[in-house]
Amino acid sequence: MNTRYKSISAGLLAAFLLTACGGGGDGGNGGDTAVGKGGPPLVVDADGVSTFDSTALGTSLAALPVETLSAAEQESLLFMREEEKLAHDVYAGLDAGWGASLRVFGNIARSESTHTEAVRRLLLRYALPDPTASLAAGVYQNTLLQGLYTQLMATGNGSLVDALKVGAAIEEIDMIDLNKALLAIDNRDIVLVYQNLLKGSRNHLRSFVSTLANRGVSYEPRYMTPTDYQAIISTPIER
Ligand code: ZN
Ligand code: ZN
Repeated sequence: MNTRYKSISAGLLAAFLLTACGGGGDGGNGGDTAVGKGGPPLVVDADGVSTFDSTALGTSLAALPVETLSAAEQESLLFMREEEKLAHDVYAGLDAGWGASLRVFGNIARSESTHTEAVRRLLLRYALPDPTASLAAGVYQNTLLQGLYTQLMATGNGSLVDALKVGAAIEEIDMIDLNKALLAIDNRDIVLVYQNLLKGSRNHLRSFVSTLANRGVSYEPRYMTPTDYQAIISTPIER
């Protein structure tokens, strides 16, 4: 379990460092994102920025039981709390460098703070300690995420196009990790949050790829299969 997640991220990190094409995640569409009485948990704007509505998420989660937590589920929650924090921290860092030119990093950074908060809610539901408690931006307990952060920031600071490609790469990695984790998860509250995180990542990927396209750059997926990637990119923002 522990080694399982470590090996997934180790592979992704190695692939990123080598700029290799690979990874075999199933990044397909679909899934149950559960619209409860309080409205959809995820609110999507015209640019695809996908933000959890705290109240609606609370209503959706309250309708679901707190089930027995498997070791794989626990491991995944701790990991995803940090991985969503990484997305937030990288986008916030890139916004500091490139925000004067483009709003996309700041807008998506704000939405990622609600993604990592949604995972923290699950940690609270299951009385698990928060691995990011008292950690500053850009600091992680997971050493692989720590290395990934350093590499992504170094790349993203190179140019605006590199920064946008880093954004797309983060969303690819996020979806692959979520899809792998879902194979071992059956608790409905975790599935609900993860399916919405996936939907958010699909929208954010579309957003970064279209921003690149507006600048004449065609993004090539680095981790997802071309088929999985095309299935997302060829479809519109999911509301
Ligand atoms: Zn996210
Ligand atoms: Zn995202």
